[in-house]
Parts: sequence; C-alpha cells; structure tokens
Amino acid sequence: MKIGGLQKLTLIDYPGRLAATVFLTGCNFRCPFCYSSELVLPEKIKNQPKISEKELFKFLKERKDLIDAVVLCGGEPVISKGLVPLIKKIKKMGFLVKLDTNGSNPAFLKKLIDEKLIDYVAMDVKGPKEKYSQFSGVKVDIKKIQKSIDILKEGKVDYEFRSTIVPTLHKKEDVIEMAKWIKGAKRYYLQNFRPEKTIDPAFEKIKPYPEEFLLEIQKAISPFFEVCQIR
Ligand code: SF4
Repeated sequence: MKIGGLQKLTLIDYPGRLAATVFLTGCNFRCPFCYSSELVLPEKIKNQPKISEKELFKFLKERKDLIDAVVLCGGEPVISKGLVPLIKKIKKMGFLVKLDTNGSNPAFLKKLIDEKLIDYVAMDVKGPKEKYSQFSGVKVDIKKIQKSIDILKEGKVDYEFRSTIVPTLHKKEDVIEMAKWIKGAKRYYLQNFRPEKTIDPAFEKIKPYPEEFLLEIQKAISPFFEVCQIR
C-alpha cells in the first residue's frame, strides 16, 4: 500500500460530508490529460513523499470527531494490494469510505459493494466507447467499463459518474454520446480540464474549454440525470 498524499480536509470530494482524501499511487491507465502524473508514472512516484499507514491512522484517530469520511483516490486505488484491509481498518474507526475509480475492475468493485466496504463511488467515464482506449492511453476492455457502469446503476451503493472534458479530445458530440451511454444514472459531473503536470506534457499547452461551452453541454444532457453539474 503506497500512500502518495493526504488532503486533510475536503468539503467537495464526498457530497454532503467532511472528508479527508488519501492518494494511493499507481494506475493502470495513462490518460494523456491526467493531472496527477506524480501519482501515476513510476519515475515521478519515486520522488513523491511517502506517508506510512501508521501516520495515516494517527491522523485519522486525531480527526475522528471532525470528519465523517475518507476518500480513496489515486492513481487507481483498486490496483493497490492491501486495499481491502486498509478499508476495513478505516471503516472500523467509523468513517464512511468513498472510492474514486476508473472502473477497470468490475469484479473487485462488486466485491467491495457486496461486502459493504464502500459507501460512495465516483467512477470516471473517459470518453465514448469507440474512443475509450485512445482517451485512456492504454488498451481498455470496454466490456469491463460497461460492467462497472451497470453495477453502479443498480444503485446498491451511492454513486456518481464524472468526466474530464478536454479540448482536442472531447467534442460536444462525444460528451453527448457519453451522457447517452450512462443515461438514467443518479449523478453526472462534468469537470473542466486543468493543464497542469499532465501525463502527456503537450497537454499542458492546451487551454481549457470556456465555461459557456460546458454550460451548453450541461443544458443538453441534464434531462438524462437526476443531477448533472459542472465542477
Ligand atoms: S486520469 Fe487516468 S491516468 Fe490519471 S489517475 Fe485517473 S485513470 Fe489514472
């Protein structure tokens, strides 16, 4: 279990809850626009300050009465060995647990839900099906992504889908296609791209879409969801 960062308080990562966010290193995707390259690329991970589990649990013990939840994000948390024991320890302390995932391991996601180890899931939707591998930077088994979407839409755990919208990759039609794909989901968030420390350095020169562009798409796709917002 490699912890590459800890955000001691977040008011926005877990809807309606005060949370701390734990950043686990390593990811099986290489989205070129990813702005967490220090948690993904092995050559950058090795320069990241490490936080031990002991330090994490000391912090959580101190904050027990001040925060409700712990967000596990990455990188991609589900590839971390020792995730289940880590979650069990966190839950034993009485915290809610939110998992941020790219949805590449539906079997593991199902296990976490069935064993009631997670209380909220945020799954990234990277792009329309036919462009998924291109936008993720690796060959993606789209059947697995579909399975994860289906599992979450069953509603056994609270959840959201979210997409980072990147100029040069996502056209308006792409976002509408993604929205149609996950139509009927509880929540869908559009996130504007941030040109910071991206996996592909060329993306650092790309200017994010203007807010109006995202608002236009949000207006078009809102009827598909209970909640559809821009973050
Ligand atoms: S944006 Fe892509 S590469 Fe970055 S952490 Fe998420 S899934 Fe991994």
